[in-house]
Amino acid sequence: MKVLVIGSGGREHSLVIACRKSPLVDEIIAAPGNGGMAMDAQCRPLDVNDSDAIVALAHEVAADLVIVGPEAPLAVGAADALRAAGFDTYGPGLDGARLEASKNFTKKFLIDNQIPTAWGEKFTDFALAVDYLRRSEYPLVIKADGLAAGKGVLICQTFEEAERGAQEMLVKNAFGEAGQEILIEEFMDGEEASIMLMVSGEDYIMLPASQDHKRAGEGDTGLNTGGMGAYAPAAVVNNTVEKKVREEIIIPTLRALKKDGIDYRGTLYVGIMVMPDGQPKVVEFNVRFGDPECQILLPLLEQDPVQLILDCARGELKPETVRVKDEYAMIVVMAAGGYPDAYRKGDVISFPAQLPDNVSIVHAGTKRTDAGEIVTAGGRVLGVVATGNTLKAAQDEAYSIVRMISWADAYFRRDIGWRQLERES
Ligand code: ATP
Repeated sequence: MKVLVIGSGGREHSLVIACRKSPLVDEIIAAPGNGGMAMDAQCRPLDVNDSDAIVALAHEVAADLVIVGPEAPLAVGAADALRAAGFDTYGPGLDGARLEASKNFTKKFLIDNQIPTAWGEKFTDFALAVDYLRRSEYPLVIKADGLAAGKGVLICQTFEEAERGAQEMLVKNAFGEAGQEILIEEFMDGEEASIMLMVSGEDYIMLPASQDHKRAGEGDTGLNTGGMGAYAPAAVVNNTVEKKVREEIIIPTLRALKKDGIDYRGTLYVGIMVMPDGQPKVVEFNVRFGDPECQILLPLLEQDPVQLILDCARGELKPETVRVKDEYAMIVVMAAGGYPDAYRKGDVISFPAQLPDNVSIVHAGTKRTDAGEIVTAGGRVLGVVATGNTLKAAQDEAYSIVRMISWADAYFRRDIGWRQLERES
């Protein structure tokens, strides 16, 4: 089978690695790809926001399966175009992708279907928003409606801060179109976790819950990033919380999608807040794998992930046959110094000669030069993924390899997994 993977990040490299290991796959094409993917797949240039170009490439390479990694192509209808052209495709159509592309759409969807979430209201008019903000309790959250690369969310401690935030979005157009409509939301004071589902209509596999580390600095301090590391399973989602997640969030969500005529085939990422009383509430939906969560979840599957992806794409998923390993996985992300602010590119990376079987190096911002060297080409450069029988074992293994990778100015957090490890001890 020929598989076309769309995207260029760590998430897509981990999908390519899964394809490389799969007995189902003879040929992998990645577009546009990165330095690591270039070692495992044939990379082709591509504008991922151009559905026609994606379909043309799928025809040209005669793809048997197309896996759409990031949200941007899904939000412009790439999966619909691919399916209309007859390709088995992993990733929801435009109708399903709205769960990520519009926060107001999702809030209404959640509230209409009585799925637990923070209370929220939509505003387009600044004066009405200010009036509401004046009558609200703090802290509260203001969100730009559309995709804003994780930057369109403000946690406001005071009315003044909230007023300023609403003004930036609604009056000063700080987020362009994405902020022309805002969502003002109740603040949820709990512990966050991510739940990734592989979905085929109303059938789904729930992958182990994970926790990301969004902040650049140790102890979860400093600027927000795309994610500096993650681990799974996350103990905050214990059996009781998991049961509630399934019964109160996942089943009603998939049922409501079906009722709305949406045949969802792809990943549904449910960001939850576990409240102090153990009640999980939805923070957000994403319509693709998390990055870096994808990198740790695929190695935890007993089955071939490509088989499951293909089953979802074809609407033939048999969830009862799916098994997850009784292990832990961790990824430590290595970034270019200075990230998420300005950083340098073009530094040559040196790698260990060999890796243990339970470790992989997943590339994100890397490029292969004509001379065959791998150089830095982005903020998050790569991630080291390790599995182990305990979280500590996975952590020790990941960091032992991180220390063997180097380039001028590499940065990584030394405390990925700290919350759970502290609780365990
Ligand atoms: P992401 O980069 O995770 O995709 P996003 O732009 O889609 O972000 P959200 O996930 O809705 O936005 O919010 C970003 C972060 O802000 C959340 O991960 C959470 O930490 C925090 N947050 C959002 N809404 C709330 C809330 N109601 N109460 C408390 N914290 C919140």
